[in-house]
Amino acid sequence: MTLSGITQRLSHQRTRPPYPNCFTSGVTDSLADALIGIVGSAHVLTGPDMCAPYETDWTRRFSGRSRLVVRPGDAGQVAAIIVACADAGARVVPQGGNTGLVGGGVPRDGEVLVSLRRLEDVADADPVAARLVAGAGATLASVQHTARAAGLAVGVDLASRDSATIGGMIATNAGGIHVIRYGPMRAQVLGVEAVLADGSTLSLLDGPLHSSAGYDLTGLLAGSEGTLAIITRAALRLVPEPTDRAVALIGASDTADAMALAAAARALPSLDAIELFHDSGLALVRSYSGLAAPLERDWPAYLLVECAGSGGTFDELSAFLTGTGADRDIAVAVDPQERRRLWAYREQHTEAIAAAGIAHKFDVSLPLSRLAGFVAAADARVAAHSPQASTITFGHAGVGNVHINVLGLAPDDAHIDDVVFRVVAEYGGSISAEHGVGTAKRDWLHLTHSAVEIAAMRAVKQAFDPKGMLNPGVLLPAQA
Ligand SMILES: Cc1cc2nc3c(=O)[nH]c(=O)nc-3n(C[C@H](O)[C@H](O)[C@H](O)COP(=O)(O)OP(=O)(O)OC[C@H]3O[C@@H](n4cnc5c(N)ncnc54)[C@H](O)[C@@H]3O)c2cc1C
Repeated sequence: MTLSGITQRLSHQRTRPPYPNCFTSGVTDSLADALIGIVGSAHVLTGPDMCAPYETDWTRRFSGRSRLVVRPGDAGQVAAIIVACADAGARVVPQGGNTGLVGGGVPRDGEVLVSLRRLEDVADADPVAARLVAGAGATLASVQHTARAAGLAVGVDLASRDSATIGGMIATNAGGIHVIRYGPMRAQVLGVEAVLADGSTLSLLDGPLHSSAGYDLTGLLAGSEGTLAIITRAALRLVPEPTDRAVALIGASDTADAMALAAAARALPSLDAIELFHDSGLALVRSYSGLAAPLERDWPAYLLVECAGSGGTFDELSAFLTGTGADRDIAVAVDPQERRRLWAYREQHTEAIAAAGIAHKFDVSLPLSRLAGFVAAADARVAAHSPQASTITFGHAGVGNVHINVLGLAPDDAHIDDVVFRVVAEYGGSISAEHGVGTAKRDWLHLTHSAVEIAAMRAVKQAFDPKGMLNPGVLLPAQA
C-alpha cells in the first residue's frame, strides 16, 4: 500500500460516519485493503466527498451511500474485485457514465460501487468487418469519433453521448434516435466480454458473425442492467456513415396528426429518425436555451423527421413533405448548423426538464396506433392526480417510445408512478422502452409482464448470480 493510500484511509477513519460508509473509528476495512491491493490506492475512494459524485443519479431523484467506490483499469481487475467482494460478502453496483434515468446505477444500501469508466480503450475500426471493439467505459462519443475516422458510424445515438458508456448502454439496451433504422443497442452488439458473479470471465468478442449454437448470452446481457454480469468490453457492429442529411420540423395539430405523419414518413427509404414533442416541451426548451420559435406559428405538436444516406435525401424528404398537405408549417435544414438548430428543440428536452425541477420520468412504449390516445389519457390522469403537476411528453415516435415527464410533484410521490404505469398497461404498452427498469419501475413490472415472464427472469438471475451479489434490488421486484 502506498503512503497516500494510508493517509487517505486514516483521514476517513476520523471523519466518516459508521458502516455502511465504512471506516468507523478504530475499525479497518479489510475489503478496502484487498481492493487497494488490486487497483492501487488512487482508485479506491472512501471519503464522502469523493464518493458523492457516484452516489446520486442524473435525475437527482435516486441516491444512496456506497461502502466505497472502486475504479478498475482492466477486466482482470474487475474479476479480482468481484472475487474479493464475494469473499467479504459485499454486494456490488456497476456504474458507467451515470447518465441512467431509473436509479439502477447508484448504490442503495452500502454496496461497493464499481465504476467502469477507466475501461475506455477504443480499438481502431475494422472497415472490412465493419466492427470495432471498445472498453465498457468508453463513451459513445469517443466510439463515434473512432468509427467516423473509418467512414463508419454507430447505429445508436443519444443526447447523453458525451458521458454515456458502451457498458451502460448495453446494460440498459439503450435506444435513442436511430432505433427506427438500426434497432436498439442489443442489435449493435456482436459480442461482449463480461465478468460473472463467480469472478470468471465470459469472452464472446471474437465469434463468427452468424451463429445459432445455443443461447444468445450476449443478447441476454443487453438489458440486464448490471444484474447478471459486469460487461468489460464489447464488439460493436458499425453502419455506413451518412454523407448527406436533411431534416424537417413539421407543425402538427395534435398527437394523432403527428402520428399520422410519422406513419407516412416510415415509408421513406433513407429515414433515420422520427421524433415527437409538444408545445409545453418546446416552451420549456426555449426558455432554457433562448432559442427562437422554430416555425411561423405555434403548434400543439411537432414532428422532426430526418433522412440520411449517400445522396438525394433533400429531394426524398421534399417529395414526402409536398405530399403532407399545402398548409403545413415546416422548416427544412440541410446545412449542418441549421440541422443542429432544428435538432436542439428536441434534444434539449431532457436538460431543460432537469433544469426546471426533479421530474418523475416515464420512458414507455405503446403500440403505434394507440400512442395518441395514451398521451391524452396520461395527461388527463396526471392532471386529475394533482393540479400542481405539469406533463411534458416527447420521444421517439417512429417506434412508439414516449418519455412522459411530470414536474411539480415531490420526488417520493410514488402514487404518480402508479397512475401513469396503469395507463400504460391499459393501452397495452411496456413500462420501459429504453431506459431500463432500475429501481424506479421494478414494482410495476407485473403490470406489463406476466407472472411466467417474471419467474423466467428470476430463474435467469438465479443461474447467473445465485448469491444475489450483482446490483441487488434492480430490475426484479422483491419477492413476497
Ligand atoms: C440528456 C440525456 C439523454 C438521454 N437520452 C437517451 C436516449 O435517447 N435513449 C436512451 O436509451 N437513453 C437515454 N438516456 C439515458 C442514459 O444515457 C442511458 O440509459 C445510457 O445507456 C446509460 O449509460 P451509462 O454509461 O451512463 O450507464 P449508468 O447510468 O452508469 O448505468 C446504467 C445501468 O447500467 C448498469 N451498468 C453500467 N455499466 C455497466 C457495465 N459495464 N456492466 C454491467 N452493467 C453496467 C448500471 O448498473 C445501471 O443499472 C439519456 C440520458 C440523458 C442524461
